[in-house]
Amino acid sequence: MLHEILDKIRRPLPAEIQSDYANAGAIGGLDAHILAQTQRALELIQLGELPQDAEFSLQRLRDLWRRYVDADAALRAKIVADSQRLLEGLEAGGWGLGNGETQPATSIEQSALSSQQPTTGNEFPAPSPQPPAPKKNFRPDLSTELTYLKGIGPNRAKLLEKLGLRSVYDLLYYFPMRYEDRRVVKELASVEVGAKEAVMVTVLYPPQTKVMGGRMSGRKITRVRVGDDSGRADLQWWNQPYREKQFQPGMQLFVYGKIGEFNGLLQIDAPEFEILGENDTLQVGRIVPIYPMTEGLNQGPIRRAIHHALEMCGENLEEMLPDSILAHYNFPGLETALRQIHFPDSWEQQKAARERLVFEELFLLQVALAQKKINAHTEEIGLRHIVEDEKIKQFLKFLPFKLTGAQKRVMNEVRKDLKSPRPMNRLLHGDVGSGKTMVAAYALWTAHQTGHQGALLAPTEILAEQHFSVLTRLFKPMGIEVALLEGSIKAKNKRRIQADLSEGRVSIVVGTHALIQEGIEFNKLGICVIDEQHRFGVMQRAALQQKGIAGLRPDVLVMTATPIPRTMALTIYGDLDVSVLDELPPGRQPIKTVLIKPNSRERAYKMVRDEVKGGRQAYVVCPLVEQSESETIAHLKAATALAERLRAEELHDLRVGLVHGQMNVIERDEQMELFRAGMHDVLVSTTVIEVGVDVANATIMLIEDAERFGLSQLHQLRGRVGRGVHKSFCVLMGDPRTDEGKARLGVMVKTQNGFEIAEHDLQLRGPGEFYGTRQSGMPDFRLANIISDVEIIQQAREAAFQLVQSDPHLEDEKDALKRALRRFWGDKLSLIQVS
Ligand code: ADP
Ligand code: MG
Repeated sequence: MLHEILDKIRRPLPAEIQSDYANAGAIGGLDAHILAQTQRALELIQLGELPQDAEFSLQRLRDLWRRYVDADAALRAKIVADSQRLLEGLEAGGWGLGNGETQPATSIEQSALSSQQPTTGNEFPAPSPQPPAPKKNFRPDLSTELTYLKGIGPNRAKLLEKLGLRSVYDLLYYFPMRYEDRRVVKELASVEVGAKEAVMVTVLYPPQTKVMGGRMSGRKITRVRVGDDSGRADLQWWNQPYREKQFQPGMQLFVYGKIGEFNGLLQIDAPEFEILGENDTLQVGRIVPIYPMTEGLNQGPIRRAIHHALEMCGENLEEMLPDSILAHYNFPGLETALRQIHFPDSWEQQKAARERLVFEELFLLQVALAQKKINAHTEEIGLRHIVEDEKIKQFLKFLPFKLTGAQKRVMNEVRKDLKSPRPMNRLLHGDVGSGKTMVAAYALWTAHQTGHQGALLAPTEILAEQHFSVLTRLFKPMGIEVALLEGSIKAKNKRRIQADLSEGRVSIVVGTHALIQEGIEFNKLGICVIDEQHRFGVMQRAALQQKGIAGLRPDVLVMTATPIPRTMALTIYGDLDVSVLDELPPGRQPIKTVLIKPNSRERAYKMVRDEVKGGRQAYVVCPLVEQSESETIAHLKAATALAERLRAEELHDLRVGLVHGQMNVIERDEQMELFRAGMHDVLVSTTVIEVGVDVANATIMLIEDAERFGLSQLHQLRGRVGRGVHKSFCVLMGDPRTDEGKARLGVMVKTQNGFEIAEHDLQLRGPGEFYGTRQSGMPDFRLANIISDVEIIQQAREAAFQLVQSDPHLEDEKDALKRALRRFWGDKLSLIQVS
């Protein structure tokens, strides 16, 4: 059964790769399909119908795919690749392969690793074949490859590599996800029925599986009789007959679980357990680390590997934090911190170790950001874009409206940056509809005025097209041509635009990712504007900047409609200056948001009809429904089916148009134009209209199955209405089942404030999934939590900026700090430090 599910997950992946990660392999998006399948598998595990051991990998898979919808192409590629690896691991686990029967799984402890002789004491067992004999004075440290570490043989190294652990650094910085306090281990005679307890027992008899009769008919129960000096108990599992193969009489077990009792015999249902070696002091009688795991590698071996690495390298670990900082915060040294985070002597010491390591991580992040920011300000050579006031006045005359105060203020900030000889690195955030496009237009126009080229980078084709048409309307009367470059245009056109750009015949270009690809060259790129930053990251920003005139960095303005929680402004965007558009253009109406259950959908359609009667227009956003079919056309079908149904039934008296992601550009444009021109009353669409689409006469948006959307996505969608002078509505149709789903829709109904929504989003999605870091190209945080560690973020930032102020190139700092920076940032460091 697991095999079947895994197969359903795997099958659409090649098509997804083929389609350049369009998230299109199934109706409602490949992510919805895979999430549904993993969820199903996880539920089956809960029911005991699939082996528990698959749980971790499935959870990882689920976590990966939850990020998919918001991920850029590069991250999507990584998610797909990681998934393929996880799937392989799951299959290799041997469950359900071939005959569809559940096969014996590796137990928590029975991996290839620990199936060797149990260890004695803290020693790491001697591996069989040794790697090349280490040199005499070889002192292993963080940079040592695990294969060269005495005591870790090729097999073990191979397994550790499955977790991405290649060097001692990887291993020692592979932190526990939680701990178990096993300092108190009870005797069976003194456990309390109903409580969760830890015991150390010996397996007394071979396990037995029984098929139940009566009410439980057909269910299988596997029992293992265990005991200690004081008593006996049964460990038992339902429908996991493979457990039989895991236990042999004489095995020592550490068992943790809820104690039950039946007919006077203690029973522990589906306990957590570990098979212990003799005198296994790493695993019991202490606070024990629990690591995130992969198939084939279990807690015991990884604990031993980490402990071993600490023993071998502890003394050689170099301190990278400046002594003044260690003293100021009273941090433990590196060796102590690493020992205490893995094998804490007490909770206090674990806490102190964690604080130091979180600080270290954030400090390494901030030092590079500080270098990027400070050195850019003082040293990098940019362009001086100087435009006289008179010219600017003329530009303003071409605008179709008066600027808001906020727009004026931000344009002045931008103008100052553009004038200065150092490159602009500015982040503009303003809620949906706050008028960012005009600020972008102003920056691009400046490039043209000073004889340079300006590029506007947008995350989707529809948004690029939208910008293209707005800018064309604005610039044409001024006699300025705008070009559009996107992936889907014909090769011939692309070549022409490419030539125009590299020879300088075009001064303003709008485009998607296609703009930052190899082969696109600019003649004199002076200013880049990047819209909807949350889909692009530092690295893409850097890639675009690299296309500047040799030796001169173009000015960069990054715009985002997703307001950024404070912690993120300090981390992922920590190298940028910030401007805020905190004022909406005049006359905007608040949007009334209501939640309607699907069984009252008539009410929703009546609201739509009422608006249309009043001369307004409506959007109906199609849900991403999951169906078993895995075709790219499935997406199209869902939207098409909805449009057809509405035309035939609920909205048969209205003119209903349709746009979706699978349409070609011309068709989509035509539909959008018809809607803009008022020829459609209602536009059924997929989330392709999520960002940027701007039709002021549209006053109501109905979102089907709203609970299936993320918070920031709902906010973006809602931003499509309330753009004119009329009162607007957002109808969330849905019946959320989960607490999180309820909370999300509740937030939407309660507030329209983008900042508030962003904070909620971050809280709801949790630190592990907060959007942006991965896409941003920043190193992953191994330990820091962007929500709860805000205080340490502040401290690390201050300390880092102070350090870089006084020593911009870290000339007087420890070599260990420079090495740590390189390790932490990898090959991204040079991009960060120079761009
Ligand atoms: P966003 O910040 O979401 O990108 P846009 O730039 O698309 O916002 O602007 C939203 C709408 O507001 C557009 O229709 C735009 O023409 C209009 N707009 C922008 N600035 C002003 C202004 N100062 N006065 C009136 N309307 C404005
Ligand atoms: Mg916009």
